[in-house]
Amino acid sequence: SIYGEALKATEERVAELRFKGHGMLAPFTAGWQSTDVHPLVIERSEGSYVYDIDGKKYLDSLAGLWCTALGGSEPRLVKAATEQLHKLPFYHSFWNRTTKPSLDLAKELLSMFTAREMGKVFFTNSGSEANDSQVKLVWYYNNALGRPDKKKFIARSKSYHGSTLISASLSGLPALHQKFDLPAPFVLHTDCPHYWRFHLPGTLNCKFTIAAFIAEPVMGAGGVIPPPKTYFEKVQVIVKKYDILFIADEVITAFGRLGTMFGSDMYNIKPDLVSMAKALSSAYVPIGAIMVSPEISDVIHSQSNKLGSFAHGFTYSGHPVACAVAIEALKIYQERNIPDHVKQISPRFQEGVKAFAGSPIVGEIRGVGLILGTEFADNKSPNDPFPAEWGVGAIFGAECQKRGMLVRVAGDNIMMSPPLIMTPDEVEELVSIYGDALKATEERVAELKSK
Ligand code: PMP
Repeated sequence: SIYGEALKATEERVAELRFKGHGMLAPFTAGWQSTDVHPLVIERSEGSYVYDIDGKKYLDSLAGLWCTALGGSEPRLVKAATEQLHKLPFYHSFWNRTTKPSLDLAKELLSMFTAREMGKVFFTNSGSEANDSQVKLVWYYNNALGRPDKKKFIARSKSYHGSTLISASLSGLPALHQKFDLPAPFVLHTDCPHYWRFHLPGTLNCKFTIAAFIAEPVMGAGGVIPPPKTYFEKVQVIVKKYDILFIADEVITAFGRLGTMFGSDMYNIKPDLVSMAKALSSAYVPIGAIMVSPEISDVIHSQSNKLGSFAHGFTYSGHPVACAVAIEALKIYQERNIPDHVKQISPRFQEGVKAFAGSPIVGEIRGVGLILGTEFADNKSPNDPFPAEWGVGAIFGAECQKRGMLVRVAGDNIMMSPPLIMTPDEVEELVSIYGDALKATEERVAELKSK
């Protein structure tokens, strides 16, 4: 018996030491975390759940990073990837050479986007590359039109558009700028529709040098901030007046997340350019894409005729395996009517979690469709954040993890964006774990306050 217990304790200690001080410079991770805390090592997935290396099961309330829309074990995506790997693992799309999966995917995307007519699709490997490419396209377009001064971008505070030099510049989160010498000077940041905290209506600082405005239909990583229903209709009147292009960053919202196929459908956005990634392949393989209006693609074509080529692209633009998986994902979204499924299960998801909004430590709970954010605040007041060193958000995240659910923690903001294939029972489980973790967090906060 003693041997058995000692062995078990030793196993636990070995598990703790196994990956401590690992070799990765880990993204969005503090140095002390990599060196002092054992990373959560995920080994396999099944539906809406992931399992860690010790076999513990977690409801994945963030769908990886807002991306595994079809969950973690969709056999059709695995089959599509495997078949394409056997047939043609790689060929590129430069110099008018390409592959059939990339042509088919471009055609399918153009037919699925119905908020307005789109002209062409350009493939990238990620959301960040998509938004970088947007900036280059807009600059190229304005140079072609003979207006080289029209180069500035308006983005919004609390936006997240990626972490490469340009997409991090577009993002409105100070952590992405500090110590990186960003944002680059071509970006102006305006307000976001976070009225509970800032009380301000959004304003746009329009000058003739502004080339484009970029926005997520629902802001995600900045804390889940859905706009008022007619916000984008009003923004579009302004940008149109000043001949400013509208870029919809649909990296999170495309393919059903809000209960409509695209976020643009939900908010009546008629964008000139659209960015996509994540659910495009349900994240099984990396791929991103941008859609370009016919007016812009016409200008790009005629300019590239003069210059000899459109000199922008990546080795893996239109990677055949990624495109084959994305084609299959798009088929599944349509065949299973995933946006409708989201419409059916999201009211319980929203109402179930929002029922906890009365908690003394919750400032606001926001969300639409299958995306939700909780902002903790002392006295429920936007003016009373908890002391950062209490780590209230982190306490909640750890309480969820203990109970078998993974959430996104960013300071005192909690975010959830589960797989779109969630079942009603899984929604109940999510709501129940959320409630229990909140109660435990309330108790811990009460303890901290009494000290
Ligand atoms: N845009 C939005 C709206 C995003 O949420 C993200 C990623 N969270 C990105 C762009 C960047 O995508 P990636 O991480 O694939 O570069």
